[in-house]
Amino acid sequence: MSNPMMATLTTAISPQGPYVGRFAPSPSGALHFGSLVAALGSYLRARSLGGKWLIRIEDIDPPREVKGAADDILCTLEAYGFEWDDSVLYQSARTDAYQAKLDELLAEDNAYFCQCSRKQIQAMGGIYDGRCHQLATPHQSGAIRLVNRAQVAEFSDNLMGKVVVDHDFATEDFIIKRSDGLYAYQLAVVLDDAHQGISEVVRGCDLIEASCRQLSLYQSLGLTAPQWLHLPLACLTPGFKLSKQNHAQAIDKQHPQASLNAALSFLGQSPVEPTNVAQMLAQAVAQFQLSAIPKQREIILTT
Ligand code: GLU
Repeated sequence: MSNPMMATLTTAISPQGPYVGRFAPSPSGALHFGSLVAALGSYLRARSLGGKWLIRIEDIDPPREVKGAADDILCTLEAYGFEWDDSVLYQSARTDAYQAKLDELLAEDNAYFCQCSRKQIQAMGGIYDGRCHQLATPHQSGAIRLVNRAQVAEFSDNLMGKVVVDHDFATEDFIIKRSDGLYAYQLAVVLDDAHQGISEVVRGCDLIEASCRQLSLYQSLGLTAPQWLHLPLACLTPGFKLSKQNHAQAIDKQHPQASLNAALSFLGQSPVEPTNVAQMLAQAVAQFQLSAIPKQREIILTT
């Protein structure tokens, strides 16, 4: 790797300041049970702490976007009684900010262009070895990789406890802008969580390892990192989460009560009276218990 400096780091705990949480769906399809769990978990945590809850639509990957999905997601959240603070942030409106940071990182030798193919990376053993950063004449185009100086390999999760990732994964110079010109998730999520003042990221365990990359980026960008809380993932079989890609069924907008109670039960919470959704959520917030959420990365759905 280009820089041998190693750092392990636990997330800075900053109890001061207001709690700000968020739900950040990608508009690649309708909300399914797995995304309802993430929405509900982040909502209950934020509201039970008297905090804000924001929505961000992560629409920076047009090839994976489904037309109308962003509006449909927002309508579904409304039908389930979720009320968010502030206006919805669309990542597609933030590309100038992403590019400005990339330019800064490139100018400071904290990022570099890479033209290696997938095949070449496979030949390196699947983990990029930083070779384009060693070139006497650097590339001026291609994917952009972070010079991963922080190499964060562990952090403390507010539900799962200490999380440690594989050394090779932690030290890789990962992509922050793709060779097709699209901004990478890791860059956009960090800049937006910082921009929105998110104090704790609550999301599914599919992104638990990604938090180390995001922590490396926070360090490179000189930004304060949020805390983290990763929820169990709803899976069909071990290793296969419910997802839009595997055509998970959309949750029913007409009959939200049953799905809300199923999501509460998935999160280890007591059921609520199946009245109107606003009352159901209010009751769920009032009786929310973080310690009741199973500390499991995956829960296999039985139905
Ligand atoms: N947009 C991602 C998704 O829908 C979630 C990203 C995040 O919560 O950091 O899976």
